[in-house]
Amino acid sequence: MQINKTYKFWFCTGSQDLYGDECLRKVAEHSAKIVEALNASNKIDYEIVLKPTLISQASIRQTFNDANNDPECAGVITWCHTFSPAKMWILGLKEFQKPLCHLHTQFNEEIPYDTIDMDFMNENQSAHGDREYGHIVSRMGIEREIIVGHWANETVQARIGTWMTTAIGVIESSHIRVCRFGDNMNNVAVTEGDKVEAQIKFGWEIDHYCVNDVVEYVDAVSEADVNALVEEYYSKYKIIDDGRDAAEFRKHVAVQAQQEIGIEKFLVENNYQAVVTHFGMLGGLKQLPGLAIQRLMEKGYGFGAEGDWKVAAMVRLMKLMTANKKDAKGSSLMEDYTYNLVPGKEGILQAHMLEVCPSCAEGDISMRVCPLSMGNREDPARLVFTSKTGPAIATSLVDLGNRFRLIINAVDCKKVEKPMPKLPVGTAYWTPKPDFATGCEAWILAGGAHHTAFSYDLTVDQMVSWANYMGIESIVIDENTNIRDFKKELKLNSVYYK
Ligand code: MN
Repeated sequence: MQINKTYKFWFCTGSQDLYGDECLRKVAEHSAKIVEALNASNKIDYEIVLKPTLISQASIRQTFNDANNDPECAGVITWCHTFSPAKMWILGLKEFQKPLCHLHTQFNEEIPYDTIDMDFMNENQSAHGDREYGHIVSRMGIEREIIVGHWANETVQARIGTWMTTAIGVIESSHIRVCRFGDNMNNVAVTEGDKVEAQIKFGWEIDHYCVNDVVEYVDAVSEADVNALVEEYYSKYKIIDDGRDAAEFRKHVAVQAQQEIGIEKFLVENNYQAVVTHFGMLGGLKQLPGLAIQRLMEKGYGFGAEGDWKVAAMVRLMKLMTANKKDAKGSSLMEDYTYNLVPGKEGILQAHMLEVCPSCAEGDISMRVCPLSMGNREDPARLVFTSKTGPAIATSLVDLGNRFRLIINAVDCKKVEKPMPKLPVGTAYWTPKPDFATGCEAWILAGGAHHTAFSYDLTVDQMVSWANYMGIESIVIDENTNIRDFKKELKLNSVYYK
């Protein structure tokens, strides 16, 4: 499945015709140099395209509408080199529908003390023009990223790169289609939600099928295709047989290979990029898809368990946002399972029944076949591993009845102290920020779920920014969180987002 699209970003410089042709020629020349430098930066993964300098209401409106209509354009970066009267921008901004970035920069880094005169001042006045432009964007209530600093500065370039990732999330969100096999697990509250509102806010299409619709695809997979994939599994993963007969073990693994091929064929033919299963609604499936779903997640599909379509869409979103990232560490559905409460070593062991994405794995990945304590199917094959260490984010999108809230927790991933030989699932282990007790208290206060969409490669700020573009509430639990202020923020948000 292709998840890398060729996205580009447009660079639009604002000015006006008051300054004369010579000044406008320099404005265009400076803009070209800036764009050239940004495109050469290793902090920026997407191409930036320079557009002609915007000096009139008509050209501004036309450019923003062209950006809307260009499927390759994922956002527009604006900068006012000189003064650009902001009433000219109103109609263009009003009609613009893609992520906006305001690069508040200046061509020269230093004041040219010896030569500066009023001509120089009039030509290099973004300190002045960008405030006029910023005013109208604020007055119109348009969400945008403002990045301040010299364009050659690596921190500035890194922030542009970071914003681009968020912009891809904004643009790609409306292409996510989630396929639900069965419904949400009965009586569970937090995996439920308003699918109509999700389509309005995020653009997600969330459909449902009878699980036996996919069983037909699974049953139709040829034995030769299954055998070839099983061979691939055996070449790629270690075997922990738990004393099972080798032929019987292989038969169980083959069921997952058949499911991987069948489910993916169904998703491709019906244009879905995320999938939801439920261990209690397996129809004609012989095993709960475990290894099969783990492999599909690794290929870039979103996944949610027990009907959790919100997590499925969020995992897919994270995979899209990080698709271009070099050395990405991984993303997955995770589930808060069990605690270590030993003072000084507190943490949450993350796993699921089976379905943790191997993109997060560090070290060996093994195959095991073990009973599932729930449901009434064959013992499913699954991939078993422990996950990478380092900073990461765990997110939970919850439906509060009148709105969505995205909870974003910065977490510190660690290795568990000792091996867990009897635990036959992929796991991760982390301590939430700011500390275990505060992190868990804040998470529960915010109504966060037990399922999360997890990423090593995205930041708290990127997800906050994404939520802002989507027009939904976000709340952060990180090193700055304290419970008194957190409770106040929840109360204030409940007024603002009503
Ligand atoms: Mn679960």
